[in-house]
Amino acid sequence: MYELRLRIGHERRVRSGHLWVFSNELQELPRLTPGSLVRVLSPSGESYGVGLYNPHSLIAVRLLRAEAEELTVDFFTERLEQAFVLRQRLCPDEVMYRLVHGEADLLPGLIVDRYGDYLAIQTLSVGMDARLPTIIQALHAVLPEVHGIVEKNCSRLRELEQLPQRQSVLSGKIPERLVLEEWGVQLELRLLEGQKTGAYLDQRYHRALTGRLAYGLRVLDCFTYHGGFALHAAYHGAQVVLGIDSSATAIECAQRNADLNKLSQVHFQEADVFAFLRQQVADGAQWDLVILDPPAFAKSRRHVPSAKQGYAELNRLAMLLLPSGGYLVTSSCSHHVFEAVFLEVIFTEAARLGRQLRLLYRGTQPPDHPILLSMPETQYLKFFIFHLL
Ligand code: SAH
Repeated sequence: MYELRLRIGHERRVRSGHLWVFSNELQELPRLTPGSLVRVLSPSGESYGVGLYNPHSLIAVRLLRAEAEELTVDFFTERLEQAFVLRQRLCPDEVMYRLVHGEADLLPGLIVDRYGDYLAIQTLSVGMDARLPTIIQALHAVLPEVHGIVEKNCSRLRELEQLPQRQSVLSGKIPERLVLEEWGVQLELRLLEGQKTGAYLDQRYHRALTGRLAYGLRVLDCFTYHGGFALHAAYHGAQVVLGIDSSATAIECAQRNADLNKLSQVHFQEADVFAFLRQQVADGAQWDLVILDPPAFAKSRRHVPSAKQGYAELNRLAMLLLPSGGYLVTSSCSHHVFEAVFLEVIFTEAARLGRQLRLLYRGTQPPDHPILLSMPETQYLKFFIFHLL
């Protein structure tokens, strides 16, 4: 196996448990087939284990914390079994959860979400992508009850690895439509369509928590997608709920979900949230609980300033619609906008408006989306519930 040495002075991060080796940290970048297994050594020859190599990516090696000579079905079966045992402990009563969270499950570049007896999979590195057939075999070995696996390889992260966008059924059959429950709320899933791997599983505890706050309130759910937060609010007895999203297909699905749950006080509207909120402020509208769950505004570090402006405007507009005693539920899934920065943006807008915010709840990813302390990149979700005094 090819051995790659780190340059002197570049071993500290890897030694502390980070799984990425950047291309400028290696003494040489040999022309091996992208996806090859290589061994990474310190400048003095100490092994950091094997990893998946891509000479065309800024992340040249993704380490596996293993000394395997090749990545066999048994290798993946063992890693997937560990991931599954942890989820059985963490989410024993749930049918939807993240089974594999990439680096944090020591399977860098691999995402697997479970939707009942179906799996949705993403491979975000050439090394993982090339091993899809082996991974599928191992998934069936660990989860014999699985009826179908779909690849949702439409992530822009794949472009960084020069991988094409792809979506297809890899094994078994995927029903056109699937209905699964999230704490009392029925959700329709179309795994062959849909954004990401189908649903935004990372906010599911927050949807339930926010729903419980909503009894008797007028609720505005911005960036509703399939109606997640809005449906939970209506299920818990909100007086009236409106969900907004710019995607027409998302809104259609949200409406079907409302019908499925026989929730008549929830409505959906296709609109750009920024334009909608500005109009609401101009009209003098008022809501008791406003939810903001936008897509990542900062996909990279250089987008942080514009992302901060976006968050500032959204949160300012939401506060203008809330009376004293109202609730602001706000989140950011941009890894590059750190929690302290996001809080500062919200605090600055509140202070400008002369509003006092009381923090009721602060959250991050659920435990099936674990965070490696050695890899800040694995932490991305910020979530807050504020009470306006
Ligand atoms: N709250 C949802 C997840 C939201 S994902 C849940 O709990 O399931 C972000 C959503 O924002 C996507 O559905 C996307 O279509 C929508 N979106 C992105 N930009 C938008 C904009 N400017 N206005 C309205 N919706 C937008």
